[in-house]
Amino acid sequence: MELNVQTFISCDSPYCDADTVLFGAPFDSTTSYRPGARFASSAMRGESIGIETYSPYLRSDLSSYKIFDAGDLDLPFGNAGRVLDTIEAFCGKVLDDRKMPVMIGGEHLVTFGAVRAAAVRYPDLAVLHFDAHADLRRDYMGESLSHATVMRRVWDLVGDGRIYQFGIRSGSREEFEWAMDHVKMELFNANSIDSCAEAVASRPVYITVDLDVIDPAEFPGTGTPEAGGMSFRALHDALTNLKGLDVIGFDLCELSPHYDSSGTSTALACKLLREMLIAYS
Ligand code: MN
Ligand code: MN
Repeated sequence: MELNVQTFISCDSPYCDADTVLFGAPFDSTTSYRPGARFASSAMRGESIGIETYSPYLRSDLSSYKIFDAGDLDLPFGNAGRVLDTIEAFCGKVLDDRKMPVMIGGEHLVTFGAVRAAAVRYPDLAVLHFDAHADLRRDYMGESLSHATVMRRVWDLVGDGRIYQFGIRSGSREEFEWAMDHVKMELFNANSIDSCAEAVASRPVYITVDLDVIDPAEFPGTGTPEAGGMSFRALHDALTNLKGLDVIGFDLCELSPHYDSSGTSTALACKLLREMLIAYS
C-alpha cells in the first residue's frame, strides 16, 4: 500500500528529489479585521483538484516539476513570536537543502518568518511585495508583530531600497510618508514591474503576495477587502514576467475561504499558485 493523502495538485515528489517545498502556515492571530486565513492552505489543497496542471500562459505543466507538499506547520496559535521562529526554522532547513520554500499563509505576518530565514542566508536579498495595504506601520496598537507591520519588520532586516511594493492603495499618512524615503512603492498597479526586474536582476529575490491586492470583485475571500484593486490578469502577468529572476522563495497570504461563498477566490489562489510554481521552479 501507499500513503494516500491530499497534496496541492501534482505536488507529490518525495522531499529528497524535490526542488521546491510547498507548505502551509495556518496562522491568523494578529488579523486586525476578519480572521480565517488559517484555513487557506487546507482549502487550496482541496480545491486544487478543480484546476488543470497545464498552464496555457506558460506552456508548461506543473506535473513536470519536482515539488514536495509538506502539509501544514504545527503552529502555537496566540504566540506570534514562536510561530515566526517555527516558520523561520522550517524555511531555513529548506534553503540549506538548496530547495525553494513556498508558503501558503495564513495572514501576512507569516512572511516575516520566511524572510528572516532568507535574509540571513542571502544578505543581498530584495523583497517584492504585492498588496492593497502598505503594511509599514512601526507598530499596530503597540504590537510590533502584526500583519499591519510585516513589511516594516522586513525593512528592519533588509534596509532601504530593497523592498518594492505594488498595488498599494491603503495605509496611514505616516506609512506613505515614511515609504518615500525607505522603499519603492507603486500605488494601485504594477506598471513598473519591468524596471524593478532590471533593478533586482543581480540579487536573490523573495516575492510575497497578499492576495487582497486583487480587486474584491474578483477576490472577495479575504480578511481586509479593499476596493479598487488589480485584476487577476494584471497580477498574473506582472508575476510571471519575473520568471527570469533568481527567486529563492515566495508566499501567497490572506486567502480567507469562509468569506468566499462561491469558491472563486480559492480557485483563483490555486491558479495563481500553479502559475508561480511553474514560473519560478
Ligand atoms: Mn498585507
Ligand atoms: Mn493586505
